[in-house]
Amino acid sequence: MTVSIKVHRGTDAIGGTCIEVGAEGGRIVLDLGMPLMENGGGDIPKELQDDPSTANGMVPSVEGLTEADHATPVLGVILSHAHPDHSGLLNHVPDAIPIWMSGESRALIATGNIFYGEKMCLDAALKHTLIFKHEDPFDLGPFRITSFLMDHSAFGSSSLLIEVEGKRILYSGDLRAHGRKKALFWGLPQKVGHIDCMFMEGTTFGGKHHDGFDDEQAVEEGMAKAFSADHATFVLGSGSNVDWLVSLYRACKRTNKTLVLDLYQFYLLKQLKQFSKALPPHKGDHIRVFYPCSQAKALDRSGNKSFLYGDTLARKISREEICASAGNMVIRLSVYEMRRLAEMIGDVEQSVFIYSMWQGYLERDPSMAEFPRNYGCEWISIHTSGHAWREDLQKLTQKIAPDRLVPIHTLQGDDFSKYFDNVVRIQDGEELRL
Ligand SMILES: [Zn+2]
Repeated sequence: MTVSIKVHRGTDAIGGTCIEVGAEGGRIVLDLGMPLMENGGGDIPKELQDDPSTANGMVPSVEGLTEADHATPVLGVILSHAHPDHSGLLNHVPDAIPIWMSGESRALIATGNIFYGEKMCLDAALKHTLIFKHEDPFDLGPFRITSFLMDHSAFGSSSLLIEVEGKRILYSGDLRAHGRKKALFWGLPQKVGHIDCMFMEGTTFGGKHHDGFDDEQAVEEGMAKAFSADHATFVLGSGSNVDWLVSLYRACKRTNKTLVLDLYQFYLLKQLKQFSKALPPHKGDHIRVFYPCSQAKALDRSGNKSFLYGDTLARKISREEICASAGNMVIRLSVYEMRRLAEMIGDVEQSVFIYSMWQGYLERDPSMAEFPRNYGCEWISIHTSGHAWREDLQKLTQKIAPDRLVPIHTLQGDDFSKYFDNVVRIQDGEELRL
């Protein structure tokens, strides 16, 4: 009995991950992500991302999934986490094939479906989605799959253990050891036991991902320091990065600032609270909610009009109110809204603009730097990577000691053997047999 594994994309790129695992009686697919880059790191033309297909190479050719039928059925697609570079192509999965994901990932995707545009909407995929519980194995044909909740910048991320034909395969997903759930990273080796083959990400290798802050605690400290001035603070960050939102929330609390969120962000936090009661909001806290018209309409359209009332309404804040107490406000809204507010406040030269995302996004979209430049605000970058540092991955793999370690989700796969033992380097589409 052999187990056959194919990485369709990810051996020489960050994002667009897709791994197929086959055994007698069936196959499973781990992640079906939208590519972020060409192999080797080159830019992908936007028109290809806008209209992904197997014909233009954006959707990987997986027989029986995105291609015509195959003798061995695809028994399911298993999602490691809800970032688009892992989940973005899930609408291409035929309805008859179940998509498995964590409840947290489902909540993130369902919220995105309400507020994001049509291109990002994964409504079709959610119609045949099933939920797994972390550390509660489930079976698909000959496969036994166990999710381990992991520290990453997407809430509810999993590392996935696949047991089949007596082999144990570990897919790291995206992971790190410097967020608010770092204990999950260090607890993984003990939970997974012996591993025959481990597929591990190496996003930060190459040095472009360290933005000066070692961990989320440093991010919280950095923001609390930046908020001390008596002027409005504008913040740009990723709405699905819940660890970061908690850092922002805590920094505001420590400095007695009011945190202004939009309906999307507040709705998402409320959805995720079912998974962690410690998450904001908390009764009587310092969050206020701004109602962008388009987001209020999106809630109405999706049958969630009641969200606009109750606790949300009690926290509602208008532009005028924000401007009247601008010095006390930390404003985490869209750049469009920040611009409108800056115009209304008028004198914002003493204000601070905090950029809380990966610097690489700025290179791809320099317009993000326009706001502070146009209004003369001080620009401060405060961010830590959503991906593990190499030193932490070295310690992790020393403890797990897999028989084979396959680099994935990295541009530095050729360097893995300098830092890790038992590295097996494969190319996209190449078959690995266990
Ligand atoms: Zn990710």
